[in-house]
Formats: sequence, C-alpha cells, structure tokens
Amino acid sequence: MSSPIITLADRVTNIKPSPTLAVNAKAKALKAAGADILNFSVGEPDFDTPPHVCAAGKKAIDEGFTRYTAVPGMPELREAVSQHLLREKGLSYTMDEIQIACGGKHGLYNMFQALINPGDEVLIPTPYWVSYPPMVQLAGGTPVPVPLLEKDDFDLNPDILPQYASSRTRAIIINSPSNPTGSVFSVKALQAIARMARENGWLIITDDIYDTITYMDTELPHILTIDRSLKDQTLVLNGVSKCFAMTGWRIGWTAGPKHIIAAMNKIQGQSTSNPASISQKAALAAVTGPQDFPKTMLKAFLPRRDFFVADLRSIEGVSCVNPKGAFYVFPNFSAYFGKNFNGKQINNSVELADYFLDEAKVASVPGAAFGADDFVRFSFATSMDIIKEGMTRIKTALKNLAD
Ligand SMILES: *Cc1c(COP(=O)(O)O)cnc(C)c1O
Repeated sequence: MSSPIITLADRVTNIKPSPTLAVNAKAKALKAAGADILNFSVGEPDFDTPPHVCAAGKKAIDEGFTRYTAVPGMPELREAVSQHLLREKGLSYTMDEIQIACGGKHGLYNMFQALINPGDEVLIPTPYWVSYPPMVQLAGGTPVPVPLLEKDDFDLNPDILPQYASSRTRAIIINSPSNPTGSVFSVKALQAIARMARENGWLIITDDIYDTITYMDTELPHILTIDRSLKDQTLVLNGVSKCFAMTGWRIGWTAGPKHIIAAMNKIQGQSTSNPASISQKAALAAVTGPQDFPKTMLKAFLPRRDFFVADLRSIEGVSCVNPKGAFYVFPNFSAYFGKNFNGKQINNSVELADYFLDEAKVASVPGAAFGADDFVRFSFATSMDIIKEGMTRIKTALKNLAD
C-alpha cells in the first residue's frame, strides 16, 4: 500500500495504541461471529442508572432544558457538588472552584492541558489507569511510573518515592481505590506524598472516582483529610459514572484552586463547552438525591469479589491481592509465562489474555495496558454465574498449558 497523502500530527503518532483495543476488537468480532464470550473487560458497573436519575434526565428534555449552559457547568450542579464535597469529605469549595466536565476523564484531560508544559514530569503510581500516561503526553509532559508492588498490596512504598522525583516533577496522581488493582493507599503512603508535595510544590491530583465503592470497615484515607493545608495545590476529581452507574451520561467534576479551575474552563470553553445539559440535570438528581445507591451495588459486588479472589488464589502459581475497593481483580499469572499451547509459547500478559479469549472464550484486559505485564485485569461488575463459569474456563485453559 502506498503511504497516505495526509499525514497525522506527531502528537497522535507518538501515542502508543492501547493494548486493550486489540483484545476488545477481537472479543467483539468473535461475539459477532456467534462465539459464547464471557466479558470481564468492561470498566463500568453492571447496574442501570437509578430511576429517579433517569426521570430527571427525561424531565429536562420535556421541559426544553436543551440549550447551552454555562461553560463550567450549570450553577445549581456546581453548588450541589460543593455541598456534596462538604457532606462527604468535609471539604469546602466555592462554585468557582468547581468545574463540571464531560466525565471524569475529560476533567483530567482539561487539567493536564491547563497545567503541563513540555518536559514537565508527572509521577504515576503503576499499575496505573490506562489513560493517565497518554493524557500527560498529549499535554507535552513526561509520565514517570512509580512502581507499586504486589507484595505491598500495591500500596505506595514511601521510601522509594524520592527516587522518582526530579526538578522537573510537577504533579503526582493518586487513584485510591485504584483501577486496576482495587488497592487503597495507606495513611503512611499519603503522608509521604503530602510531605514531598509540600516541600517541592507539587500539584496533587486525587482521582476519587471509586471512593464510594470500598469494602473496608474503616474510613477511606484521603490526602486532604490527612493534610488540609494542601488544598491550594490539590485537584480533587470525581463524578457520577461509577458511583451512580452513569458512565454513558458523561458527567464528572474537578474541585481545586480558583485560578486552575479558571484555566481549565478556558480549555473547556474552546473545546467542548458545557457538558450535555440533560446529563447535568440527571447528575443534579444523583448528587442531591438518596446516597444509598453505591451501597446497593456493594452488596452485589462483595460476594463476587470474595469468590473471585478465593478461586484465583486456589490456582497453582497464581497470586491475587484482595481489592479493598472498585470492582476489579488483578491476579498475577507470570508463573504461566513461557508455557505452550499447541507449540505456541505464551510470554506476556497480552499473549495470555489472547489465549484466554481464543481458548476459554473469556475477555480480560492484559496487565501491560496498566504498565504491569505480570497481571491480567478482570472486572467483577458482572453476574456471579458468569464469574463462576469464567473461572471454570480459565482453570481449564491454564491446565491445558504445557511446559
Ligand atoms: C472510570 C474512571 C474514570 C472516569 O470515568 P468517566 O466515565 O470519564 O467519568 C476516572 N478514573 C478512573 C481510574 C476510572 O476508572
């Protein structure tokens, strides 16, 4: 094939294609061809948006609430988010310290665009959520992975943090509970981050999107509860996608210093403008209405997590950290690397996930997508029956691998 007439921008050419895409595309193709695929790759709750939230969206349409709103989001929603943050976390923000964006992901995108200059480094605890590094790169920054170890339950080891810091470090990302590990940063880890951020003037980005989905008896530690004085250098990210099963509505928010929010509003004003008016009304109903919905989901998630982790741990050579939050398990399958199926060797997480898909008809996400090649991510936002059947298939597939 001859090269295309129109070439692409360097910024997109330099972004690596996501390893998840290949597995996803293949899973879809197999399913379309009639294969009985069990899908553990999805990153969203298997619940419908609560009825009162849907009703608010419908009402918005019926009442003609279908025009542009203010770029940072409608005032009522920012006010409601402000009250929500006060109620849930004891954090106080004025309306001009809050931006509503088209999902949490978009909020993150806005902040990197508003804050990162070429060469700026962003510390990213690894395994990380797939989108952090490319978003930093799209802003011209350099992602710096900070390894989290399975033996530490993927908590941050405070002693290693200084090794990854440099004079170019601008920011550090906290995602606790984490996607993909489900791990929660300890108070000790957060204190270390707080100390270094304070001393070096780092921006702290705390992605709290899973903060209502935790399985702990104790309160979830938060960087700003540990050190309130960091509020002037912290951006708090959250949204309705995970806690209200509203991934498709695309509403998230950032709370932080006024001048940063104003800069993010500039970016948003020249790109998407306001998030969908109808979705904002629905999010308003979610944030101001009953807050027991995440608890309903937790009741379903907990037995699934317990089964999944125990069953994975029962497999020879497999280890699995017990997730404290979110809805993913992240088992280590590296003991199986180097084994063969029909003469074909499996050497890494991408090849293993591919094998699970081909031979077990199980779709998962290879750990390489999260910067951790020894692992594979399975979502338990799916029914117990599917989890049980999926585990049976995975165990058979692993047994069929030869040395
Ligand atoms: C799902 C997710 C988000 C945000 O999702 P949106 O649908 O864009 O609100 C942000 N961070 C992590 C780690 C996530 O898993």
